[in-house]
Amino acid sequence: MWASINELKERIHAGSSEEIVAQYLDRIGKSKLNAFIHTVGESALSRAKEIDKNDIEGPLAGIPVAIKDNISTKGIQTTCASNILKGYIPPYDAHVIERLKEAGAVIIGKTNMDEFAMGTSTETSFYGATKNPWDLDRVPGGSSGGSAAAVAGGEAPLALGSDTGGSVRCPASFCGVVGLKPTYGVISRYGLIAYANSLEQIGPFATSVRDVVTLFDVIAGYDPRDSTSVDKEVNYSSALMNDVRGLNIGVPDEYFGEGTDEKVEKAVWDAIHTLEDLGATWKKVAMPHTKYALSAYYIIAMSEASSNLARFDGMRYGLRTEDQDWHTTFSQVRAAGFGDEVKRRILLGTYALSAGYHDKYYLKALKVRTLIKQDFERAFKDVDVLITPTMPYPAFRLGEKIDDPMSLYLADVDTVPINLAGVPSISIPCGFSDGLPIGMQIIGKHFDEATVLRTAYTFEENTDFHNKRPEGS
Ligand code: GLN
Repeated sequence: MWASINELKERIHAGSSEEIVAQYLDRIGKSKLNAFIHTVGESALSRAKEIDKNDIEGPLAGIPVAIKDNISTKGIQTTCASNILKGYIPPYDAHVIERLKEAGAVIIGKTNMDEFAMGTSTETSFYGATKNPWDLDRVPGGSSGGSAAAVAGGEAPLALGSDTGGSVRCPASFCGVVGLKPTYGVISRYGLIAYANSLEQIGPFATSVRDVVTLFDVIAGYDPRDSTSVDKEVNYSSALMNDVRGLNIGVPDEYFGEGTDEKVEKAVWDAIHTLEDLGATWKKVAMPHTKYALSAYYIIAMSEASSNLARFDGMRYGLRTEDQDWHTTFSQVRAAGFGDEVKRRILLGTYALSAGYHDKYYLKALKVRTLIKQDFERAFKDVDVLITPTMPYPAFRLGEKIDDPMSLYLADVDTVPINLAGVPSISIPCGFSDGLPIGMQIIGKHFDEATVLRTAYTFEENTDFHNKRPEGS
């Protein structure tokens, strides 16, 4: 059930997309992972049948894809894993969904996530936590935990997530799959339900760099409906070269700080040495503002969230109460519809933006954001990519951190600076600790996905970590 896209394409050419889709749906039906909020079996099977019958062509013709439930899908319920959007059926497709459909992909369902993408463990979902396929007592990471678990558990060959501060890379790391957060502006956010719009990007998941690139090529590209979309067409598959000779790697000590598990640190260093053996060189680089990244990120993300989530007022979408005046409806719907973590962030974000505190918190965080961006610009004068752990430790236990929001926020220490700077980064498997996957993060310059992908692909071609599967799941 972990076929590559090329293997699936061969089978589809022989006329059996329907059979493939049915197999995945069957596996999802029997799963213990809770990776999907819901599936769309009937429409997926009829689309697959149509592709088989009419020999429909396309880079993803007949291939099943799972979609995070904060990406709008026309006619398919989209809830952001929140009670407040229960029953909401978008009247339009996100740009990435339009692209997928044009490419012949078959959407099989919507995946579980932290409510409104706020979290690091997929435990804040209204629909219950997703489980890690490598150990059912552990979290899959978050917030795109359903997408990562689906791919790792053989329930979908490809999936989409979104990454505001690590939500593609964290679950990729915890579930032992590949996840890419592209440069801000490369993939249209049209139809992505916003959490913190200045930080987030949609990103692809797969079990290999090659398959991530196949999906990335389909969904990337200019869209005039997203004002931050960048008009730049690139063909990323040309980056898939098994060659890192002459590549300069930067290693920032700040990303191997206190709290980083020894085995994680060792696995990432081993990976750097593997790349060195293949012809790359490495040197230490200084990223002195990294220590302020978490505080700046959470102020900015919560401030944007408090504004973005104001639209959920009980009038326009999903949940509502009847026969009340507007103020009562607004507060009752929000009290019943949002979970604790979402409420906490709306409150803190509103506070950070309020008169008297705006300069002290929000404006200051924006200034720190600029300093962090400058750290990256300085480092990239000397090196081509940066390599760090994706997460400071492997997947933790379900329930272990959920009552301590601060410890969950701290887990994002190595992923949030990348979103503040808007640069691209990928997480790929690079080792194991007591049977749990470890992820390494490769970070690149703005719009230099090609070098990030080449580095990741070369590592993958010369190692075996990405071929390990959680067979018991
Ligand atoms: N864990 C981070 C947060 O809760 C990142 C989430 C995300 O990338 N969507 O904000």
